Amino acid sequence: MGKLQFRLLASFTLVIFVAMGAVLFLLNQTTKDILENRQAEEMVALSSRMQSALTEYYTINRDWDGIEPYIEQWGNIYELKIILTDTEGSIIVDSDNKLTGTYTPDSGGIPLTTLFRTSQTGILYITPKATSSFSLESIQILFNAIGQYFIVGGIVSIAVAIILSYILSRRVLSPVKELTGAARKLGKGDLSQRVRVNEQSEFGELAETFNSMAANLEKAEELRKNMVADIAHELRTPLTNIKGYLEAVLDGVVQPSESTIRNLDEEATLLARLVSDLQELSLAEAGELKLQVESTDIGQIIGNTCELMQTKAVQKKITLRCEIDNNLPVIPADPQRIGQVLRNLITNALTATPHSGSVSITAGQKDGFVEVSIADSGEGISPENLERIFERFYRVDKSRARATGGTGLGLTIARRLIEAHHGTMRAESEPGKGSRFIF
Ligand code: ADP
Repeated sequence: MGKLQFRLLASFTLVIFVAMGAVLFLLNQTTKDILENRQAEEMVALSSRMQSALTEYYTINRDWDGIEPYIEQWGNIYELKIILTDTEGSIIVDSDNKLTGTYTPDSGGIPLTTLFRTSQTGILYITPKATSSFSLESIQILFNAIGQYFIVGGIVSIAVAIILSYILSRRVLSPVKELTGAARKLGKGDLSQRVRVNEQSEFGELAETFNSMAANLEKAEELRKNMVADIAHELRTPLTNIKGYLEAVLDGVVQPSESTIRNLDEEATLLARLVSDLQELSLAEAGELKLQVESTDIGQIIGNTCELMQTKAVQKKITLRCEIDNNLPVIPADPQRIGQVLRNLITNALTATPHSGSVSITAGQKDGFVEVSIADSGEGISPENLERIFERFYRVDKSRARATGGTGLGLTIARRLIEAHHGTMRAESEPGKGSRFIF
């Protein structure tokens, strides 16, 4: 017998015994009360009948002569001790024929008179003999009969309890056992473990929770593997390039000129940027990016960034416009991070926009939020690429992105930064006409 089954059985048995005990106790009390009440009522009726019979007797006979047989008979029939005394207390009759002389009563007697109540004729004392011989006996018989039923009932109940505790413990334990097995395997690294959810009880809920936890773990593990593969892939390209140049120089195929060294430096710079972007992304994804939140004049931040980016725009002959609502509120934000997001989005827009194109930044209030949008008149992004540009390392045109030095992490980090500010970021685009990034 398992622990749970034993506990269930013990609980059932306890409940059975307590219930039976309570019923027996209550039955005992009520039966006794009823019998005692009945006896008291009977005594009152008997006394009053005897009182009137004796009164009538005395009225007719004018003395108590010849009363003995009646008193003795009553005593025998009703199992009573009856004593009749005169007004002074001298015993006239004792139903048991034992007492003579003066009677010292324990309790008050019933005064007897003549029918006309002219004078007192004697005192009658009545006490039940073996008080409850009748009631005790009948209670005993009753309880013996009930007791037998209780024993049979108890045995049947305990048998039912054994069967019930077996069935219940099996029902309860089978999902628990399944869960334990699955959790053990999960703990050993088999993240594909799932359990069946076949009931809507707390166990069903537990099974569902387990399954969703296992699914999350599996997804996280999958993501981790993909990320490691992505990182290895991204690091490999600049490293291969550096190695290639160095080997070519060593083999004397290429002369170590200024341009070779510049190429090496560019690759190393890309590597360094990759590493620092990765570090930032990993912090952001773990939710550990520390924001220096302060009351920030967001309008001023946008204005400053706009000015800063003008030089780049002018170099590319692009018109950079800024339309900032004058009534923008002061908001709790990290000004450095918001600046970083803006620079990133504006740089992307400038990169995507050809000469004599335009990039415009607008900022206003919408639904209790500050909404900033960066729109360009560039090449735009196709719908299938638009879906993926916020993924890490995703670049629309890999070869061209390398020329611009992009790591494919800029938008991922920017979106994470905005989300850390409890905001959202999205992109819209019409291929050939331009794109718009809104946060
Ligand atoms: P990167 O650092 O390589 O620029 P991002 O995450 O910033 O990476 O951007 C991902 C890709 O999204 C870019 O390679 C680019 O192709 C595309 N993209 C971003 N902004 C724009 C834009 N304004 N117009 C067109 N394409 C864009």
